[in-house]
Amino acid sequence: MFKENELVILIDPKNRTYLLKLKKGGRFSFHGGTIFHDEILKKKEGEIIQSSKGIELLIFRPTIAEYILKLKRKTTIIYPKDIAQIIFLGDIFSGAKVFEAGTGSGALTLALLQAVGKRGVVVSYEKRKEFLELAKSHIENYLKANKQKDFGKLVLKNKDIEKGVEEKNFDRVILDLPEPWKVLDQVEKILKPGGFFLSWLPTVLQVFKLVEEAKKRKFYLKGIYEFLERKWKKEGKSLRPEDRMVAHTGFLLIFRKIL
Ligand code: SAH
Repeated sequence: MFKENELVILIDPKNRTYLLKLKKGGRFSFHGGTIFHDEILKKKEGEIIQSSKGIELLIFRPTIAEYILKLKRKTTIIYPKDIAQIIFLGDIFSGAKVFEAGTGSGALTLALLQAVGKRGVVVSYEKRKEFLELAKSHIENYLKANKQKDFGKLVLKNKDIEKGVEEKNFDRVILDLPEPWKVLDQVEKILKPGGFFLSWLPTVLQVFKLVEEAKKRKFYLKGIYEFLERKWKKEGKSLRPEDRMVAHTGFLLIFRKIL
């Protein structure tokens, strides 16, 4: 059974999804009618609920990938297809100490917290207070609704990384900032030797500049990546790719610190 304040994702017959935070007495209205939260509270994950107009929707707890796409956001987020690669290629392991800047909407932060697990730590810098507050509430909402999962310790700091850092001996540094070449001193200071430095950048000129600057310092360039994901659909006898795809998000650069 679900509890109050848990998050659920409802999936309609056309595969459209709706994210709800369950409240006693709450109601959700959409083109397919109304659904009362009290009815969902009596159900189990994987069950079906009927709207007032007789539409049947599946009920699940949202994954982080589903959750972050539904968030109100003031920044662009890193997309699930890219976060997946960041976690694996960046070797974000259980127990890792990860440094991130900037927090933005907290999408990547949440995925990192899940990946590092309960012995791990994620420190995230964000220079804009209003963004940090919003990210904090997004993250807390998800953590509170998912007590069955283990997350790492989160330290959010309202700081500008260009003005210096206090952290050292970290396993991983991940930057989603427009001018990462300005903070390479900080990255060197934070990272352990052998540690990974990942940078997420939307344009090739930024990629070029970062590679040039990092080459002059103690970083080995492991790779420059772009990730494409093409979803398919099955409708009756037809099985084919979907008509639209996300054409561009950004490039991932992976470096390792050398001595
Ligand atoms: N990866 C985030 C989105 C980050 S958007 C997500 O998935 O949700 C980039 C963020 O970096 C913005 O919020 C911006 O305010 C912040 N930022 C830019 N320069 C910064 C700096 N020097 N120090 C800290 N944060 C910075």
